[in-house]
Amino acid sequence: MRLLLAEDDRMIGDSLRQALRLEGHAVDWVYDVPAAQSALAAERFDLLLLDLGLPARAGLGAEPSAGLAVLRALRGRGDTTPVIVLTARDATADRVAGLDAGADDYLVKPFELDELSARMRAVARRHAGRADPALTHAGIRLDPATRQVTQQGRPVLLSAREFAVLQALMQRPGAVLSRAQLEDRLYGWGDAVESNAVSVYVHQLRKKLGADTIQSMRGVGYFLAAAP
Ligand code: CA
Repeated sequence: MRLLLAEDDRMIGDSLRQALRLEGHAVDWVYDVPAAQSALAAERFDLLLLDLGLPARAGLGAEPSAGLAVLRALRGRGDTTPVIVLTARDATADRVAGLDAGADDYLVKPFELDELSARMRAVARRHAGRADPALTHAGIRLDPATRQVTQQGRPVLLSAREFAVLQALMQRPGAVLSRAQLEDRLYGWGDAVESNAVSVYVHQLRKKLGADTIQSMRGVGYFLAAAP
């Protein structure tokens, strides 16, 4: 997933970003309300992790529920990007206000990364209108919860980035995803993008899953072949 993390606490933000990257997500991190708003206006994200206690302006201190402004502006223009709000333990009113303003779920700090990951998957699933947590296509089954992939029932071992590429393709079988769209799923803003990374991951996926599994459309992108 490509995530936007809006969190002013540098320690929490840094550890969250590292942990989420290890799970194969591309994470962009902003520290205040204006930066979150311009990021959301400029790019599409699969999920927004929104701390409600954010600085209302760059350089100021955090205010208890300033992050609600980000959520209200997003929903106000009809943007349905999934949002999980992060709140302090004693901020019940904030959680209610967050859900009322259109958040999909919330987490109370401090939280375990496992719980955040599970809630992210649940929110993404509901957003996509799927009840079954696993994606299946042409004998391949990808389970975002366990991060396991099988082909005709046999386990296939993938790296985090191979998994991310396959997941992006399996979420929209038959759709052609451009190299840039796939790079978006692999890298955040600060990351150096290796120029041929996507073709390398596609090459490795073909070796593991079969040469015909992922088709290329020259100059356009990649897509999953239909079931044989
Ligand atoms: Ca905060």
